[in-house]
Amino acid sequence: MSTRIPATLIAGDGIGPEIMDATLAALDALEAPFDWDAQVAGLGGVKAAGDPLPQATLDSIRRTRLALKGPLETPSGGGYRSSNVRLREAFKLFANMRPAKTMIPGGRFDNIDLLVFRENVEGLYMGYEHYIPINDDPHAVAIATGVNTRQGARNILDYTFRTAIALGRKKVTVVHKANIMKALTGIFLETAYQMHKEKYAGRIELDDVIVDACCMKLVINPWQFDTLVTTNLFGDILSDLAAGLVGGLGMAPGANIGQDAAIFEAVHGSAPDIAGKGVANPIALMLAAALMLDHSGFHDKARRLRQAVSETLNADNIRTGDLGGRADTRAFTAAIVARIRNG
Ligand code: NAD
Repeated sequence: MSTRIPATLIAGDGIGPEIMDATLAALDALEAPFDWDAQVAGLGGVKAAGDPLPQATLDSIRRTRLALKGPLETPSGGGYRSSNVRLREAFKLFANMRPAKTMIPGGRFDNIDLLVFRENVEGLYMGYEHYIPINDDPHAVAIATGVNTRQGARNILDYTFRTAIALGRKKVTVVHKANIMKALTGIFLETAYQMHKEKYAGRIELDDVIVDACCMKLVINPWQFDTLVTTNLFGDILSDLAAGLVGGLGMAPGANIGQDAAIFEAVHGSAPDIAGKGVANPIALMLAAALMLDHSGFHDKARRLRQAVSETLNADNIRTGDLGGRADTRAFTAAIVARIRNG
């Protein structure tokens, strides 16, 4: 009898339920061995339990240590903190991995195959912000404090080196601003070279680039990069830039990996402008499910899912509206399922 794997399922808000249904149809066709525990978060969590991250959802992920998650809306006002940031903190999801790979050949940027690793719990995202009042202006000065620790840098860097080597990558590039933020991003750069010398020299190349130059180089010649690793805020920006090179957020999956759990998601949001219309592109969540299959050791099912997406887009020429096609979510999903079954 094959092993079943318990996993938490959060359909999410807006287009979340539509793209999650599509992704589950693809996973069913692959006979993926996940036993889902459906939970709510985001607006769904507020409606069901008065909390965008209900205790039952946290308990479920604590038990399964594995989740597939649709986009979550954080209600503005009401003092709610982002559920995504809370999930990263609760499960110490220190690594955010976002592959950016060309799925539709022939575009402006062809044959892109980048891996971006973002430190996910430290840096300028810690939310240590305050104002200093001067005279009658209470917000005369705004201050944000970033925190990067040696151990935090070691966690993400070690994960990056190990994963890049396991995936047959050739080079890791550290992206930083150590010429200006000498302490905050200098510690990250210094730790990278130290760790490379101690553990990874001869197994994978290491170099570095300043973040502003990196943006320019990614647009002019993205093929010079292989694997990028960087601190939280730079990673947030660079991974969206990389997604833009391969067709936008509708194609971008993300994996949040940590000490206590792994959570897989589409990078885009809940797209309230198209929610309920049945036209959303489910590819990003499907590719996130492929990362989850890889993470769980089902590499062949992950490969078949990616291949079905590629064949549906390119051989069948079936695409959703955001990619210039005419298929709705249901028709696109039916084509993917047919490709998986006949593949
Ligand atoms: P968004 O990504 O939801 O939408 C931006 C644009 O892209 C919209 O025009 C939308 O229709 C389109 N789009 C996004 N995903 C699409 C898809 N799969 N198929 C077709 N078109 C797609 O960004 P936003 O409008 O800035 O955010 C909406 C909400 O989502 C906000 O509440 C935000 O906080 C939340 N959000 C959540 C996550 C997450 O849970 N990981 C990430 C980003 C934003």
